[in-house]
This record gives sequence, C-alpha cells and structure tokens, in this order.
Amino acid sequence: MQECLFCKIASGAIPSKKVYEDADFFAFEDIAPQAPTHILIIPKKHIPTLNDITEADGPMMGRLMVLASKIARERGLDAKGFRLLANCLEPAGQSVFHLHFHLMGGRVFRWPPG
Ligand code: 5GP
Ligand code: ZN
Repeated sequence: MQECLFCKIASGAIPSKKVYEDADFFAFEDIAPQAPTHILIIPKKHIPTLNDITEADGPMMGRLMVLASKIARERGLDAKGFRLLANCLEPAGQSVFHLHFHLMGGRVFRWPPG
C-alpha cells in the first residue's frame, strides 16, 4: 500500500525516528508526542484498523504485544507505568488508517481518556 503513510515510514521512504525494526514490525517516535515517551508500534503488513485483523493475524498480534512490553521495559516504563492503546475509526481518534499501537509513558494519565 504505497500511498499509506505508515507503510512509507516502515519501508524507509519517509524518514522517522526508528525505535525498533524486524521482518514483521516497525516502531518509531510519534511526530507529535503526547507524553515524554510516545512510540508507535506497527505491523509491516498493511492492516487498516483493528476491525480488519483476522484469526490468521492472531499470532502476529500476540508478538506485537510482547514487543510492546519489551520496548516499555527498555524505556524503564515497566516500573513507572505506561499506556498501550489503539484507536479504531475516527470517533475513537484514529487518523492514520494503518494499524498502530501508541506506547505512552513518563507522565500520569487520566481515566477515562475522554
Ligand atoms: P491515531 O490518531 O491514528 O491514533 O494516531 C496517529 C499518530 O500518528 C498520531 O499520534 C500522530 O501524531 C502520528 N503521526 C502522524 N503523522 C506522522 C508522521 O509523519 N510521522 C510520525 N512519526 N508520526 C506521525
Ligand atoms: Zn499501510
């Protein structure tokens, strides 16, 4: 999906502050951080939203969670606390339609998020 912003970031066509990369995942700093740590974690596979994941994506999604936990630990957030979230569709705040998880930490978060 070459017109997709996050596909372009994952391929390196658009520069980003890379945090992690392997064959299946890419993680990078959010361009407009909402917390001292604000990292986006994406599958390289173009999946528009959480509505579009299938049973076959299950193992990959599980590995994405393990990766998020690992990055949080590397950033020292495991003890401080962090938030991991995905917005699904515009009413929930999704603005880029390539599945991504926000890993945020370094400040206190309110609940509900509003
Ligand atoms: P969403 O609103 O879809 O849940 O999250 C999209 C996120 O992508 C936002 O937090 C926004 O700041 C970030 N973002 C949008 N465009 C870019 C970009 O070109 N580079 C980076 N690094 N982040 C971006
Ligand atoms: Zn994409």
